[in-house]
Amino acid sequence: MSVAGLCEVCEASAVADSCDRCGRVVCAKHYDTETGYCTDCLAELGGTPDDGAGERDYPDGVDEYRL
Ligand SMILES: [Zn+2]
Ligand SMILES: [Zn+2]
Repeated sequence: MSVAGLCEVCEASAVADSCDRCGRVVCAKHYDTETGYCTDCLAELGGTPDDGAGERDYPDGVDEYRL
C-alpha cells in the first residue's frame, strides 16, 4: 500500500514509513529501520553516543576495528 505525502520531518522527501513511537510518517532518511522510530524519537531517546549514555548493546572497550 502506498502512502501519499511528504516526510513530516523534512517535508521534502516522499514518505517511506511511519514511526512506531510517535506515528509520524517520515522519509527513509528520517526513519530508522532497526528501531522502527523516526530520527526525532531516536534523538529524544538519547541516540547520541557522545553523551556518555552507556545504553548500547556492546560493552565498553569493544574492538573499534569491527565493521
Ligand atoms: Zn525526511
Ligand atoms: Zn517518532
